[in-house]
Amino acid sequence: MAVEAFGLERSTSAARRPGAFGTALETCTPKTAERWVWLAYDQLNTSFIDALPETTGTTGVVLIESTHKAKQQPYHQQKLAVLLSNQRHFALELQRSGIPVLYLLSARPYAHVLEELGARLGRIHAFQHAERSTRLEVVGLETTGVLVVHDHPGWLTSRKWFVDSVGEQPPFRMDAFYRTVRQHTGWLMEAGKPVGGKYSFDAENRFPWKGEPAAPSPPVFNLDEIDSEVAVMVQQRFKHHPGAVDMTSVPTSAEDIERAMRFAMEVLPWFGRYEDAMSEQSRGLFHSRLATLLNLHRVWPADLVKCALGSGAPLNSVEGYVRQLIWREYVHHIHDVTEGFTRLDIARASSTRGAGWSGGGQVDDGHPNFLQQSRRLPMAYWGQKSGLRCLDASVESVMEDGWTHHIPRLMVLSNLANLMDIDPRELTDWFHAAFIDAYDWVVEPNVLGMGTFALGSAMMTKPYVSGSAYINKMSDHCSSCAFHPKKNCPITSMYWAYLYRHRTAFAGNHRMAIAMKNVERRSDEQKATDEATYLHVVKTLEQGESLEPPTHGDLRRWTSSS
Ligand SMILES: Cc1cc2nc3c(=O)[nH]c(=O)nc-3n(C[C@H](O)[C@H](O)[C@H](O)COP(=O)(O)OP(=O)(O)OC[C@H]3O[C@@H](n4cnc5c(N)ncnc54)[C@H](O)[C@@H]3O)c2cc1C
Ligand code: SF4
Repeated sequence: MAVEAFGLERSTSAARRPGAFGTALETCTPKTAERWVWLAYDQLNTSFIDALPETTGTTGVVLIESTHKAKQQPYHQQKLAVLLSNQRHFALELQRSGIPVLYLLSARPYAHVLEELGARLGRIHAFQHAERSTRLEVVGLETTGVLVVHDHPGWLTSRKWFVDSVGEQPPFRMDAFYRTVRQHTGWLMEAGKPVGGKYSFDAENRFPWKGEPAAPSPPVFNLDEIDSEVAVMVQQRFKHHPGAVDMTSVPTSAEDIERAMRFAMEVLPWFGRYEDAMSEQSRGLFHSRLATLLNLHRVWPADLVKCALGSGAPLNSVEGYVRQLIWREYVHHIHDVTEGFTRLDIARASSTRGAGWSGGGQVDDGHPNFLQQSRRLPMAYWGQKSGLRCLDASVESVMEDGWTHHIPRLMVLSNLANLMDIDPRELTDWFHAAFIDAYDWVVEPNVLGMGTFALGSAMMTKPYVSGSAYINKMSDHCSSCAFHPKKNCPITSMYWAYLYRHRTAFAGNHRMAIAMKNVERRSDEQKATDEATYLHVVKTLEQGESLEPPTHGDLRRWTSSS
């Protein structure tokens, strides 16, 4: 039985109770293949094998399931399930196409397993890892010759394009990189000029959705015995992790992936126009929901670009979608050139890790924190009701699906954390654990650089913060909220309080000049109400309680009685 490869892991329960997956996997020996390549958990695609140097012999694939990795964070159960089921499906797909597979289950780090395996197999090929944590874990094996590491073939863009257009030092700006990529690839270009006369149709991506066209129903996937086995395993072994498993909502098999791709192309025509809209009638609206598959490389990014370009969808949708895929590259390069921001000269602070879920709690130093925000993440982010409908609806989506689209991530979950001065590293840990598509290279730039202002202006010119007007315009949350967006919603007051509190840090930032002038114009009484509102909200949520509107009148009454 191959799950017990070479008896390395005789004590694993899978070895004793093979189940459907263990039974389906055939036995291999070191001689079954001439050379072996280790494909990590997020390299689940045969294009990696195609990218190896040519050989006339057989190439076998090593896949490792490490519970050590799974325990590094309180990962959402759905995230563990989608990753493990995809990896197991991939193993069986490889085997069906005649590629030998060694599938190892281990409670130890990858490096330990590979070192032992190297003694049996000789040099093992591998590809540069997207996650810095994994790169660091196995870097020693490259030095000792256990691993021969090749360039990662899955990225759409080279580091050279990034460095030539953006540089290796901040400020990092997307526009120059985006133009460079469009020019190099020829995507949406005609005779050296952007199709439609401009590179970005961003202004046509910001419409609220009022029910028309009807929202699509996201695909419901068939469960097979691999899915069911993984679901039970995660529910048993990781029952103390947040969230729940629902394998019908996530693609895992090759057939599911085709279905997920079809869905993405079906909704693409409306993606552009309603990209920023949020609705409780449809959490995903016209978003593709493909980030999980892309980040695992079950969907090959270049194939997706080709589909989008050939889809025939309106230009604002196709351009918007291709731009998002280039954003993905952009954040990867930033993380890569700064070594996960360790090379940035930026204000830092120590942080409590683990996002407040049980099991975390250790403090470590040196995390980027431009505004020196240090409040702990309230339990409202783990599902305790806050009374703020926009926050509660977004958290419900995260707890149930391990996912929201971009705007709830940015303009609700990050915005409110920002306005409450939550420690940005703690917020990042929460995003990393709770979202099914989160890996260090993508979640860290998005939360530290865009969702919060922890990197200062290294990545964004100003923080993405707003009061209730934006949420009211772009969503239907306010219509079912106990608060009124124009009369007593605390978010607008918190927005003013945030600007005033951080006025020294924002002084001299030209993009903030108008907002700072406006906050200075507020009367002393308004400023006092803003500050008291902020304190009332953070105190209430820190105590795990729910906010209620003041019984009569506006927030002045609420805050004076609190
Ligand atoms: C605070 C915050 C945290 C985020 N954390 C993650 C994360 O952990 N993992 C992740 O993949 N994305 C993250 N994003 C980016 C983006 O929100 C998600 O990629 C997207 O919502 C996933 O849903 P989708 O597949 O339907 O995307 P769509 O809206 O259909 O977009 C298409 C694709 O573009 C890519 N994309 C779009 N924007 C970004 C971006 N800013 N960075 C990287 N890729 C992008 C994704 O691969 C996505 O699948 C984050 C954004 C913010 C503001
Ligand atoms: S009224 Fe305020 S708290 Fe309620 S949903 Fe709207 S923005 Fe959010």
